[in-house]
Amino acid sequence: TFAYYDWIAHHAEVRPDNMAVVDLATQRRLTYRALDDRIDRLAAHFDKLGVGRGDRVAVLAANTTDTLEVQFACFRLGAIFVPLNVRLTVHELAFIVGDAAPRVLTHDSDFAAMAGELQGKCSVPHLLQFGAPYEAALAASQRLLGAEAVSLDDVSTIMYTSGTTGKPKGAMITHGMTFINAVNLGIPTFISQRTVFLCVMPLFHTGGLNCYTNPVLHAGGTVMLMRAFDPAETLRLIGDKSIGLTHFFGVPSIYQFMCQHAAFADTDLSRLQVAGVGGAPMPVPLLKIWQDRGCVLMQGYGMTETSPAVLMLDADDAARKAGSAGKPVLHAELKIVGPDGEPVQPGQMGELWVKGPNITPGYWNRPDANRTSFTDGWLHTGDAARVDDEGFYYIVDRTKDMYISGGENVYPAEVEDVLYQLNEIAEAAVIGQPDPQWGETGVAIVALKQGKTLDEQTLHAHCRERLARFKCPQRVVFVEALPRNATGKVHKPTLRERFLARET
Ligand code: ATP
Ligand code: MG
Repeated sequence: TFAYYDWIAHHAEVRPDNMAVVDLATQRRLTYRALDDRIDRLAAHFDKLGVGRGDRVAVLAANTTDTLEVQFACFRLGAIFVPLNVRLTVHELAFIVGDAAPRVLTHDSDFAAMAGELQGKCSVPHLLQFGAPYEAALAASQRLLGAEAVSLDDVSTIMYTSGTTGKPKGAMITHGMTFINAVNLGIPTFISQRTVFLCVMPLFHTGGLNCYTNPVLHAGGTVMLMRAFDPAETLRLIGDKSIGLTHFFGVPSIYQFMCQHAAFADTDLSRLQVAGVGGAPMPVPLLKIWQDRGCVLMQGYGMTETSPAVLMLDADDAARKAGSAGKPVLHAELKIVGPDGEPVQPGQMGELWVKGPNITPGYWNRPDANRTSFTDGWLHTGDAARVDDEGFYYIVDRTKDMYISGGENVYPAEVEDVLYQLNEIAEAAVIGQPDPQWGETGVAIVALKQGKTLDEQTLHAHCRERLARFKCPQRVVFVEALPRNATGKVHKPTLRERFLARET
């Protein structure tokens, strides 16, 4: 069997003085040599706490280099890394911690009280707090020489999905999946030991950890970590020549909040080689705003369950094919199927299914989801997609968010795209509401840019000019801001709860 190969140990040997990670909040900078040493000591400490192969170690913290050390210490021990979403309530976390049953829960000082509560509720044997206690543990530990031999099929991580459509599910991620994703993402984005990547997405989701943090560390490049996304600070870092950022990744809202910031107009974006976007439908008007500033966003598509890369738009095609999520990555098989599970005719819309070494073996403790999510090794993504005659894929929307108006399928993302053409609109989301005449009709929930006004008639007229009648939202609700989850995605279940009259 092909064993997990320790990338950090490799780079510590081959390019020891390359900067591996920079913690922007604390200004801690670790070369590969320093990172490797700390990971080894941490692994030795975990070993003392009885963490062995297959045992879980959880982390509850804002983005910090310590989280990455916990990940790699787990990899070295053959233990399973479980990053937790800091935005969940104690009640929600207790469910996850109970489910994953970690031997150690590591956390930062901000979450000390919560970690204590979780320890009591879920009988976690050990807590380890970042900062003084963590540093003392490292100082007191000898390097643990030699990593546990783990195979690429062994589970390395339990990564919870974003919880955009319901309760988060713990996808089992293997060492092989993480490695394959480093290849699948790294090749089209030119990630190398010279890459300097700014991570603003949370490390507890795949959008932060695997886009592109792990691929960059796999290649021996540098990862700069921001504690939590801040548009002004992000723009400053992108424009600062002395920092030399080459790579950036964000979900659409990250780009939206940046281009709506006053500093956007004066920021030099030209040094970024790759600005990746994915994780939610990307409105074409937003792509155009960035393109007009000379920054061509590279769209990709993926899921927690798929490591995540599945589709990537090549840099060369990004401007011409704005709106497409690209073509299949190197190591993945794709098909678009109809309700019967059979491939649709070329050009037709259907559900995207994916198979290959980048796909999760299943959800942790979720036999129900495992039964319904796979057919003969094919993962049902739950996303509607189509392919054009040049082989470019378009992700239309989640099948769950589609609604049917007068017998016609409406994909909210298409309507949202049209709404974003209105310059007054900062954020827009569309959901279906029950309607006695049409079955369902659309409700547009809209937040305006600061100081802007927009009357409902203008919005309706704009939609009617560009969309078939059945796609035009019947109702408009103005709000201050849309509810979003920790990944920055609009949380449609909350919108439905707030704005749809409950059926009796
Ligand atoms: P949950 O599964 O818990 O409801 P989630 O699906 O948002 O949450 P993730 O695994 O973070 O959790 O996100 C994967 C989903 O994000 C995909 O299934 C798809 O719906 C959406 N997505 C990813 N990339 C794109 C893209 N380029 N365009 C449109 N949607 C995308
Ligand atoms: Mg999902």
